[in-house]
Amino acid sequence: MKKSILCVLASSLVLTVCAQQPPVDRKTRGCGDPPGYSDTPVIPGQPWKVHDIARPHPAKVPGTVVTTPPPADAVVLFNGKDLSQWKSYARGREVTPQWKVENGYAEVAGRGDVVTKQQFGDIQLHLEWQVPSPVEGCGQWAANSGVILMGRYEIQVLESFNSVTYADGQASAIYGQFPPRANASLAPGQWQSYDILFEAPKWEGSKMVKAPTVTVIHNGVMVHHRQEFVGQMAHRIHKPFEVHGPEAPLTLQNHDATVRFRNIWIRPLKGYDTK
Ligand code: MG
Repeated sequence: MKKSILCVLASSLVLTVCAQQPPVDRKTRGCGDPPGYSDTPVIPGQPWKVHDIARPHPAKVPGTVVTTPPPADAVVLFNGKDLSQWKSYARGREVTPQWKVENGYAEVAGRGDVVTKQQFGDIQLHLEWQVPSPVEGCGQWAANSGVILMGRYEIQVLESFNSVTYADGQASAIYGQFPPRANASLAPGQWQSYDILFEAPKWEGSKMVKAPTVTVIHNGVMVHHRQEFVGQMAHRIHKPFEVHGPEAPLTLQNHDATVRFRNIWIRPLKGYDTK
């Protein structure tokens, strides 16, 4: 937790008065925030602005968690025991993840995202996540995390069963670009699942010749179908694509909110015909 200290130095009296701001209350954090914006740029190819306060929310279609065990050729990224397949960064240096591992899940804790040691391009990804009950915070602070494909393209993780935020930032949204086609969220305390098919972008030099696409199944409900991203993940702005390599690590976001993950596996789809 960051602590801001305001110090007023009355040097003539050799007196230092320091007023420390109260710690952030995680239970009410974000509860006064507006549920969207109207001063943000228009999303390319859409009539909506980034995090548009007027953008309709999808219908609620609560699904059922899918708990598929890893297929024989999957890379098991987390089997409930340790985060040995992951790393974190602190001040630009690689460090051991600070996330908690207990009771078969990994829980966001400490500082830093967790990033896979292995890099991936086209993938099939399965993971399960849970928002602990009671939920801390509101809106974008209600159990925010994220599945960040290639470290650039986020599928949002958030409490969206009760909590309301802008449509392109709710659970399973392509953050800042596309709301899910349905709100398949389950109540806090229940495990939820994402099954994701991601096709990496293709470049010829600095020119993108194929945009990245994603298909997302949230709790057994299709919420994106081979949807093309229109840029990289960003808050309140449109961030254009940046050239990157054919493979990159997968990231799970630490948004300083308590979220749990379990049963994470990935199948690289090298050689898969993605035309
Ligand atoms: Mg997020």
